[in-house]
Amino acid sequence: MATTLEQPGHARIHALVEPLDEANQELLAQVHPPGWANPPGNGVYDLVVIGGGTAGLVSAAGAAGLGARVAIVEKALLGGDCLNSGCVPSKALLRSGRAVAEARKAASLGVRTGPVEVDFGAVMSRMRVLRAGISPHDSAARLTKVGWTCSSARDGFPARGRSRSTVSFCASSEP
Ligand SMILES: Cc1cc2nc3c(=O)[nH]c(=O)nc-3n(C[C@H](O)[C@H](O)[C@H](O)COP(=O)(O)OP(=O)(O)OC[C@H]3O[C@@H](n4cnc5c(N)ncnc54)[C@H](O)[C@@H]3O)c2cc1C
Repeated sequence: MATTLEQPGHARIHALVEPLDEANQELLAQVHPPGWANPPGNGVYDLVVIGGGTAGLVSAAGAAGLGARVAIVEKALLGGDCLNSGCVPSKALLRSGRAVAEARKAASLGVRTGPVEVDFGAVMSRMRVLRAGISPHDSAARLTKVGWTCSSARDGFPARGRSRSTVSFCASSEP
């Protein structure tokens, strides 16, 4: 089954992920591959999921697990908020924050440390590396491998494909 993400909006999407260091390039290669081409579409789908965030990926996985033919449409970054700006980045930052707090209260525990300084650039760099490391789980390549068709919203999806009856909107958790 073919897989696609949008071509024309690459620069706009990639601008969301800065700086374009090695980790972020790896992230983009997984969740918005630069050379991605929209698939031709593949007949009738049992389920078309709009939005490749947590909800969309879980819905698609559940349906595919029951044998449905699934297509997923993502307009920006697969993985949605959770991978790209929410759960994953925030936990990486929290871990660094916890280390600072522990170091600062170390004296009260009988542990002598020097002055504690935060290198925020290094904190963010670590976060980007961790996020890139997790991104293969939500990647276009993996979704294709498990048999879903993955496409961009902008280019229309899936070309020459049709949904049998069900479209699941998982486009955001925002109210
Ligand atoms: C800072 C932060 C920390 C968080 N930490 C946690 C945590 O520790 N644990 C936890 O369980 N939750 C956490 N969350 C919440 C979690 O991120 C959300 O619950 C989750 O991302 C919701 O998933 P979703 O698929 O509903 O929406 P989203 O993640 O918003 O995904 C929606 C997707 O739909 C796409 N889309 C939108 N419109 C269209 C369209 N027209 N066509 C195609 N695609 C479209 C978007 O580009 C996006 O990729 C956190 C959130 C934040 C902000």
